[in-house]
Amino acid sequence: MENKRDYYEVLGVSKTATADEIKKAYRKMAIKYHPDKNPGDKEAEEKFKEAAEAYDVLSDAEKRQKYDQFGHSMGAQFGAGGAGYGGGGFSGFGGGGFTMEDIFEQFGDIFGGRYSNMGGFGGATGTGRARQRAQQQRRGTDLRIRVKLSLEDIANGVTKNLKIPTYVADTHCHGTGAKDGTAFATCNTCHGTGTVIEQHQSFFGVEQVHAVCPTCEGSGKVITENCTYCHGEGVVRKDEQVSFTIPAGVSDGMTLKVKGKGNAPRHGGVPGDLLVVIEEIKHPELIRDGQDVIYNLMLDLPTAVLGGTVEVPTITGRARLNIAPGTQPGKVLRMRGKGLPGSENPGVRGDELINVMVYTPETLTDEQRKAFEAMKGAPNLTPDPEQKKRIFSKLKHIFE
Ligand SMILES: [Zn+2]
Ligand SMILES: [Zn+2]
Repeated sequence: MENKRDYYEVLGVSKTATADEIKKAYRKMAIKYHPDKNPGDKEAEEKFKEAAEAYDVLSDAEKRQKYDQFGHSMGAQFGAGGAGYGGGGFSGFGGGGFTMEDIFEQFGDIFGGRYSNMGGFGGATGTGRARQRAQQQRRGTDLRIRVKLSLEDIANGVTKNLKIPTYVADTHCHGTGAKDGTAFATCNTCHGTGTVIEQHQSFFGVEQVHAVCPTCEGSGKVITENCTYCHGEGVVRKDEQVSFTIPAGVSDGMTLKVKGKGNAPRHGGVPGDLLVVIEEIKHPELIRDGQDVIYNLMLDLPTAVLGGTVEVPTITGRARLNIAPGTQPGKVLRMRGKGLPGSENPGVRGDELINVMVYTPETLTDEQRKAFEAMKGAPNLTPDPEQKKRIFSKLKHIFE
């Protein structure tokens, strides 16, 4: 910040300048370096910003007093003093911290309106800007639909082919709303230019500002006879056949954009977008956890003891899973690559995690009861302290 120019020097006024002199000096600088007068000139833009910054400080009695006292070096104090430019205080302006938008936001009244309204300075560019704004407004609304997807759909990605009620441009009038697309006359308000000149009272006195013509909304033409198919709207409601692909790995609440498949605007322009909101249907057996899926397996006692194979659900159907003899409840088995692909990285799939629980029977036949009673007290049926420690350390995840 050492190379910052003195604010009085920037505006070319003396240290004892009155508020009125400062205002006049700034006005002069603002006109000279205004972006409309110096299109594409980076140096002028910097000067314009520099002047705005100097004016911001020197036009405020409190800020000016602090500046006189501390200069640029005490930026932090200005910040703390409530200058409102973040912790950096005045130093926050440096390095492009004060954007053109900020300047027009802050001193908009000086220029007689918002940035986009400042045609008064440059004539041609002002007209262009007003017209551009009119065209930008000609965009249809977005459509939003919800699409329900199963975990299987999400795993593989899916192409949807849907009929969606949409406002589309009427083909009879090419979206214009005029009979045959030709029943136009030149707009009387703007004489075909699409813009009108408004007088604004501002800091600089009376300013001429180019604005979008309110009669023709910037098109320069008015309809003389309405299209009978769309009653002059330029759009008709139609069930549009829309086809789009939802990539694998999406998640609940995600929104995908299908560009240009929203509503067409009245009287021509670009259609809005179709926004597809993903809704995940809960799987009856599997629980999604990011890219992994979880299955809670209830193992019968003999299989937990003797080992064997069980059938488990996966996203791609039923699968056989080997159970080792002596499998403890709480064990987590992992089926690698049986989860979901990533939405960013479809090549990498998550896993299926199987939480093993063991079902302790609640009723027994006489025979079974005898068998269990015969086992009771056998030393190998209770773990020794070392085994116990080992098993619990493996189940730590349950308690954490
Ligand atoms: Zn007009
Ligand atoms: Zn029509």
